[in-house]
Amino acid sequence: MGTFRLMGVPVRLHFTFVLLLIFLLVSGFGTNQSGWNYAVYVIALFASVLLHELAHAWAGSHYGINTLEIVMFPIGGVSRMQRTAKPQEEFWIAASGPFVNLLIGFALFAYLYAERSIVALPQLVEPTNANLIERIAFGNLILAFFNFLPAFPMDGGRMLRAILSRFKSEDEATRIAAWAGRMLAISMGLYGLLSSHFMLVFVAFFVYLGAAQESAAALGRSLTSGIPVRAAMLTDYKTLDHGSTIRDAANLLLATSQQDFPIMHADQVLGLLHRNALLRAMASDGPDAYVAGFMDRDYTVLNPEMNLADVLPVMARSGSCALVMQDDKLVGLLTAENLSQFLLLRRFGMEPTIERG
Ligand code: ZN
Repeated sequence: MGTFRLMGVPVRLHFTFVLLLIFLLVSGFGTNQSGWNYAVYVIALFASVLLHELAHAWAGSHYGINTLEIVMFPIGGVSRMQRTAKPQEEFWIAASGPFVNLLIGFALFAYLYAERSIVALPQLVEPTNANLIERIAFGNLILAFFNFLPAFPMDGGRMLRAILSRFKSEDEATRIAAWAGRMLAISMGLYGLLSSHFMLVFVAFFVYLGAAQESAAALGRSLTSGIPVRAAMLTDYKTLDHGSTIRDAANLLLATSQQDFPIMHADQVLGLLHRNALLRAMASDGPDAYVAGFMDRDYTVLNPEMNLADVLPVMARSGSCALVMQDDKLVGLLTAENLSQFLLLRRFGMEPTIERG
């Protein structure tokens, strides 16, 4: 789905976001509010979630951590940070998001209190044009409350982990926060089913997925922390000269298990030819076209001594392949595939053998 930039941070709408929009459209019918009123309500809540994520991004940049992207999910946004924050940093980065919703909620209620009397809370169940601001304010308080819950993947779960990691190992702190997340999701889902609040079941489903994702990411981090990129990179790979044709590249694609090929001029890297670009070139320009016209010049470069745990977020984003370079010389490739194999072997207790080059 679509991507846009906000204060320099790319914002992506996750495909499941469509589900939420459909739900909002369906549930908005047959109420006593006008169409524009409903549109303002939806846009205001969307903006509140965005402000929440921007607060995370701002707090992160305060600690020198860039936000790679913000992904908007049905139950909120997720900021993907450039590196893992230290516990104390993580506490404040996590707290900043729901704090913004708390501020918005209280500011709106304060405004209403000063301007006119506030509509009684039970009346908010019935959406009307008159209680629009109350509902936006209340929505923000709900967002704040929900995100402060001390369970993964909520911000409160991150705050809990940050606090726990003062007394326990980071692994154990993560496990507890993820366990709390799964328990919360299960009880929320059961309650939703028994009381026929199906929106709760829907939210519980995403909380469960998020908690599972968080513990997988934490496992990945603990399996890779302290290990250099050098230990996991591919050292046996093929490159192509910049004068090669798409036919040469296609032959390599068939002959090897490699998906991405560095394009070289002598021992200088010029670009990276991805499998998809190769196939597209084959279809549009035929096998005699030169690879140089289709290579990606904006490839990801890693240093062989970098901590593998620190490059996981980068790899999750670039997805396919990064070049490992030392002093401008190509020394290896790191692909999503060989990285996941490395993690698998580590999980079964294999210690990496690190060759010093
Ligand atoms: Zn948040």
